[in-house]
Amino acid sequence: MLDTAREPRRLKSYVLGDWRAGEGAGKPLAHAATGETVAFIGSDGLDFKGALDWGREVGGPALRKLTIHQRALMLKEIGIRLMEMKDAFYDENYATGATRKDGWIDIDGGIGTMLTFASKARRELPNTRVLTDGAVEPLSRDGSFSAQHILTPLQGVAIHINAFNFPVWGMLEKIAPSLIAGVPCLVKPASQTAYLTELVVRRMLEMEILPAGALQLVCGGVGDMLDHVTGQDIVTFTGSASTGQMLRSHPAVIANSTRFTMEADSLNAAILGADAGPGTPEFDLFVKEVVREMTVKAGQKCTAIRRVLVPREHEQAVIEALSARLGQTPVGLPDDENVRMSALASLKDRDSVRDKIRALQAEAEIVSGNPDEVNLVSGDAETGAFLSPVLLRCDNPMGATAVHEVEAFGPVATVMAYGDADEAVALARKGKGSLVSSLFTDEPAVAEEIILGLAPWHGRVLIGNRASAKSSTGHGSPLAPLVHGGPGRAGGGEEMGGMRGVKHFMQRTAVQGAPGLLSAVTGQWIDGAPVRSDRHPFRKSLAELRIGDQIITAAREVTEEDVEHFAHFTGDTFYAHMDSEAAKANPFFDDRVAHGYLIASFAAGLFVDPAPGPVLANYGVDNLRFLTPVYFGDSLKVRLTCKEINPRENADHGEVRWDCRVTNQDDEVVAQYDVLTMVAKTWPLPAE
Ligand code: NDP
Repeated sequence: MLDTAREPRRLKSYVLGDWRAGEGAGKPLAHAATGETVAFIGSDGLDFKGALDWGREVGGPALRKLTIHQRALMLKEIGIRLMEMKDAFYDENYATGATRKDGWIDIDGGIGTMLTFASKARRELPNTRVLTDGAVEPLSRDGSFSAQHILTPLQGVAIHINAFNFPVWGMLEKIAPSLIAGVPCLVKPASQTAYLTELVVRRMLEMEILPAGALQLVCGGVGDMLDHVTGQDIVTFTGSASTGQMLRSHPAVIANSTRFTMEADSLNAAILGADAGPGTPEFDLFVKEVVREMTVKAGQKCTAIRRVLVPREHEQAVIEALSARLGQTPVGLPDDENVRMSALASLKDRDSVRDKIRALQAEAEIVSGNPDEVNLVSGDAETGAFLSPVLLRCDNPMGATAVHEVEAFGPVATVMAYGDADEAVALARKGKGSLVSSLFTDEPAVAEEIILGLAPWHGRVLIGNRASAKSSTGHGSPLAPLVHGGPGRAGGGEEMGGMRGVKHFMQRTAVQGAPGLLSAVTGQWIDGAPVRSDRHPFRKSLAELRIGDQIITAAREVTEEDVEHFAHFTGDTFYAHMDSEAAKANPFFDDRVAHGYLIASFAAGLFVDPAPGPVLANYGVDNLRFLTPVYFGDSLKVRLTCKEINPRENADHGEVRWDCRVTNQDDEVVAQYDVLTMVAKTWPLPAE
């Protein structure tokens, strides 16, 4: 059972390269389920301006010296080591009122999210310090003036003001994209559960993997910190809409146009499709999901289902099914294995949820649960912040407001009946913007109509049905590769979404200039930039290869025999290659044409240097386009230019992208694409 013998500890902040306690004894933080003091918190007297300067002047430059892959590898290493020590985090997590299962979302989920970012960054982003965004924009007829959008890390600090409900995930899902982008972080966890965040940050800093200044922590208030933000800083906020609006309108945030991302109250809906009546797998999945979302973390999830929208004819059946399950939820101490739902984070939160239920009761009646009574399997209802799951029903949801606007941040949801799909969408939209909503249907037409109706009001929507029942990650789980955040009431912010999340911490800049200079800025060769043709680039290892290294091949004629041979050899006897009359009737061709893949194959035959050498493998092509038809007798040649070099951090090779342009005897481009290869860092390869 709970370790209540442990001495409460005074939480410290990590700023300006040191662990520092605020002045005085600090404010006591109570165990959610027992009420005992677990820690003291306070940050009075800390130098908040100094902390921001430290991040900008020490952390930022150190991070920016590293490439994206090097930053990602640091996070991978940290993530692996945090996983090894996670039991200690689970022990600490009980004090927040989270069961072991709740902790899995926060702790394993948080570390997993960071590891996913670390892995996606190395797979999807180049190993550089600057990113390009989109294609080169030609701005002149003669190719002497072009533009390229680039992304560079902002040179301020990412200040992450987090909510109490996910002390680990809330921190890691935000620092991962910031640090990969090259922006130092200052994490300010919500006080109520800051002891767990502090423990994790302590362990991370003890690893001595991150450069100095890359990660700071403030346990307690942020004092005058926001007075000192600049246009290079970013503030991300998760919590109540009222605090978020206040911080967003801070004079310094406004004056400096400081980027401010907000994730606040969200009245997420789950919709049962009209086709998904009792007896269907979708009905059962829906009921299970609503119960799960109401009880996991005692409903203290920003993504939890608050509004249960059901076809009028199935309303009673849904209420009965939900009530039956909710009534059987064992509530008690978080480390009691018989318990499914434990306490809210604090007595204050429980009181606030009770107040919100009373506000909802102005428009809805309670159909299951009692906010003032809880049957516990363990623990004490006086000292622990326990609450029964409470289900309400609103009779006139189209005319109601509170049920769409009051977020009771606990195990509380309201059932509302709808007439048709339009009404279901209209009700969901009354939430004025949500993080997520879900639809349970097996009917494609229902999915199309409702999801397209919901999408503009949501950051994420999930469709549940029998086909995905086993594999679905569920309504409430934000995933690292997917956008998290939502418009309107949900705060208007957007987080994660894979590498989109990294780019939120970078500045997009359109750079215009001559190709050679653009190429020098981005590290990528573009058409018109200088080239070097000293020897075949396939003979060069990464130690010698440079962008702009080029080969222009000899010409090769394409004959009718070639096309016939290729057609019969591969089985591709499409009429445009085989039948002159039919080809002429085709609006794109004047006669029989060569296969596009024959052209690409001939191109390889022209540019490849066959002997063993530093080019280890060809792993594909990107953006392959056949631009001009090739007729019998045409003569093709290839210009192959080294466009981008990505050395792998932990391997003897790297990826090289080659610009490949195939032209005919009239210098028309017949095919264009990027060839992707693996090239050894040195040649010959080091002995095993
Ligand atoms: P708050 O808005 O009070 O706190 C959120 C964060 O802001 C905390 O880190 C808090 O720190 C900090 N904060 C509060 N005041 C200031 C300030 N003046 N300057 C700088 N930082 C400040 O929300 P709570 O965590 O108390 O939750 C309240 C409600 O918010 C919940 O009941 C729920 O309705 C909603 N909520 C919504 C979430 C969502 O993602 N949709 C997530 C969590 C909560 P400190 O704790 O030290 O005060």
